[in-house]
Amino acid sequence: MLARVAARLRDLMTENELCGRLGGDEFAIVIRDASDLGRVDHVARQVIERLSQPYDVDHHTLYVGASVGSAIGPRDGSTVETLMRNADLALYRAKDAGRGTHCSYEPTLHAHAEERRKLEFSLRKALERDELQLHYQPVVDAGSEAVVSFEALLRWQSSEHGFVSPAKFIPLAEDTRLILPIGEWVLKTACREATRWPSHVKVAVNVSGEQLLDPHFSSTVVAALATSGLPANRLELEVTESVFIRDANTARSTLEQCMALGCGIALDDFGTGYSSLGYLRKLRFSTIKVDRSFVQGAATGNKESLAIIRAVVAMAQSLDMTTTAEGVETEAELNLVRKLGATKIQGFYFGRPMVPEEANKLFYQTIARRGGEAA
Ligand code: C2E
Ligand code: MG
Ligand code: MG
Repeated sequence: MLARVAARLRDLMTENELCGRLGGDEFAIVIRDASDLGRVDHVARQVIERLSQPYDVDHHTLYVGASVGSAIGPRDGSTVETLMRNADLALYRAKDAGRGTHCSYEPTLHAHAEERRKLEFSLRKALERDELQLHYQPVVDAGSEAVVSFEALLRWQSSEHGFVSPAKFIPLAEDTRLILPIGEWVLKTACREATRWPSHVKVAVNVSGEQLLDPHFSSTVVAALATSGLPANRLELEVTESVFIRDANTARSTLEQCMALGCGIALDDFGTGYSSLGYLRKLRFSTIKVDRSFVQGAATGNKESLAIIRAVVAMAQSLDMTTTAEGVETEAELNLVRKLGATKIQGFYFGRPMVPEEANKLFYQTIARRGGEAA
């Protein structure tokens, strides 16, 4: 595969360029004369396009992507080391921005990289320092408004950085594989907490793609269930469509093992990913969660959002899956998603993510509407 990639790269080179392999799956291209600034971007685009075309290797069709980072001397550095380091920072940014992109070096990348490095250092310590906590957000039945489950949502109160949003530290945990120990802690903690709730109430735990590719994942689930004593049918694992991008077969077989244990599988943020419906046919999800953006869109009269919710509800019904409307904040949104046929509802209207004690109290009182005070 490396040889095939190298051959394609070499084909793209002109007299002005030289390419070589740095190690692993990293290659470098030196452009002798980059006085035409558009030249660098042109080469980068060509590389991405050419390397992304399918490869036939031993009767298998294989795909690889490419990301490119670039730096231009002397503007971005006067030594080889500096130029290489800065191109590498730009490459990092390109990977962050999603596959198949080219980013050029900018001085601000240093500040970003430094901040990221500090955050990663603190995150490595977060578990042992007891800085992570789970909050629980109620999911109610659309008809009776009774709590049917809670979604466990991770919170990090860092001694160095203060409160850090999951949108920021979860991608970092995934990149650094810290999500493996953290995810294990989440599973154990959530299952243990759920044993305190009435026996019909489930707990939903978010699982990253990185975790599903870990060969020990299903034994982690077994251990969390065994040590807590929670029946498997009270645990629902939430995955997003993105887990099927990198290695769909491994992700699917891991999820099938969890289903064989009795766990439910929910498809989270539905409609925001690449929405190839193939995996819906291959895996029996228990729930499809309709992303908040569609709920909001539909409530403001957006026709496409309405059509998508209708289609998802109809599809889920015929596949014998339930639907959860995410991010319901107002009575108008509630009435709408109810009318559209969503079976379950989650959102600030019925309760924000709350500390365990607060979640427990819900069983001793009817849910306070507009549960803003709980956060
Ligand atoms: P998600 O799984 O889609 O979780 C729902 C997010 O929507 C939560 O954000 C929740 O606070 C927010 N939300 C719920 N109702 C409303 C509403 O009515 N209005 C608005 N504006 N927002 C609402 P949060 O807690 O910030 O989590 C963000 C994401 O981080 C989650 O999205 C999930 O993908 C990820 N995440 C959280 N905990 C974990 C975890 O333990 N493991 C993994 N792998 N990912 C996690
Ligand atoms: Mg979720
Ligand atoms: Mg979601």
